[in-house]
Amino acid sequence: MRKKTIKDFDISNKKILMRVDFNTPLNEDGSIKDDTRIKKALFSIKYLLEKNASIILMSHLGRPKGQKVEKLSLKNIAKRLSLLLNKKVIMAPDVLGNEVENMAKNLKPNQILLLENLRFYEAEENPEKDPSFAKQLASLADVYINEAFSVCHRNHSSICPITKFFLQKALAGFLLEKEIFYLSPLTTSAKKPFYVVLGGSKISTKIKIILKFLQKADKIFIGGGMAFCFLKAKGIDIANSIYEEDQLQNAKIALEKSKNIIKLPLDIKIADTFKNDADTKIISTSENITPNYMGLDIGPKTIEHWQKELQNANTIFFNGPLGVFEMKNFSLGTKKIIQAICDTKATKIAGGGDSIAAINEFNLQDKFTHISTGGGASLKYIEEGTLIGIEALSDKE
Ligand code: AMP
Repeated sequence: MRKKTIKDFDISNKKILMRVDFNTPLNEDGSIKDDTRIKKALFSIKYLLEKNASIILMSHLGRPKGQKVEKLSLKNIAKRLSLLLNKKVIMAPDVLGNEVENMAKNLKPNQILLLENLRFYEAEENPEKDPSFAKQLASLADVYINEAFSVCHRNHSSICPITKFFLQKALAGFLLEKEIFYLSPLTTSAKKPFYVVLGGSKISTKIKIILKFLQKADKIFIGGGMAFCFLKAKGIDIANSIYEEDQLQNAKIALEKSKNIIKLPLDIKIADTFKNDADTKIISTSENITPNYMGLDIGPKTIEHWQKELQNANTIFFNGPLGVFEMKNFSLGTKKIIQAICDTKATKIAGGGDSIAAINEFNLQDKFTHISTGGGASLKYIEEGTLIGIEALSDKE
């Protein structure tokens, strides 16, 4: 790790400003639906408490787009955090302003202050609108810690510009360090055979990573909606299956470069409507899809074949469901392949949003070596080998 981490700096009794990711899924009424992200930050918060630090936490929640949206206040998060820590968490009335500055100034060792939603200010996502936003945030503390990997691919005030005000004192938190520890070998030295399993709806968000993995991975298994762009590129009529017209050329290029690395489904489950109780059939991908039908899952032959293949891997990266797993009738492929990944001896890394939802759905989260908290961030990290938010941190001396 080239960057300074929490362990590389004496944080005892210091005033710490820590960027966390408390962007938790919410229910309609604004209550917390899933507190995994809050729980993930507990380890570093507890470590800071042990060191008698005064902790100021900051996060975004949802997309208030520069407006103060009451439903997106972090008040409920403060309450949940307090419950999880069994300790008082002081909720700031705002992100900035005299009152917040005084609260930060008077914060004692071992106390926790949570600032309001950073995205209540437009300058969080658009630092150029008000460069003083980062400066004012920075003025609240002595040391900065970044524990929000999922936002590290964005030039947001609390991620990049803020670090300029913490020379030699902008540190990577434990979660950030862990993400780098597990993701960086995928870009350089993953133990071979290295297999990649990709799914999800959109090829556009994953084409760069496919091209990157064509140079690093031994096999890339592609399922989900993405597979249909490749099947169409091979000249198969995909009927009503989803595909992105503007990605057809990219799919052709990837297939040309593939030299047999890309593995497409051998068979698929097709449906006459996008509904769980649709009329369904299994067809081979050497045939055209029945007119008016769409492919919504990989088929049984594919599952069986991929299950066997995956057993040979020493490293597996999984990103994106292999079918519309939210509907029971089209969840089998995703379930069986995640299970097959879990049953291997390989180092198993999963990245991002819907992959986590699918893994959680089948209750297999403990079987993975590492599940990245960042969707877009983990893909970008693998594509580029680093992220701007990581680069902004202080170098080790
Ligand atoms: P992404 O955000 O690109 O990873 O896509 C995840 C979404 O892809 C999930 O909501 C899945 O339901 C959806 N998906 C997976 N396979 C298919 C498919 N064959 N057709 C349509 N959507 C799909």
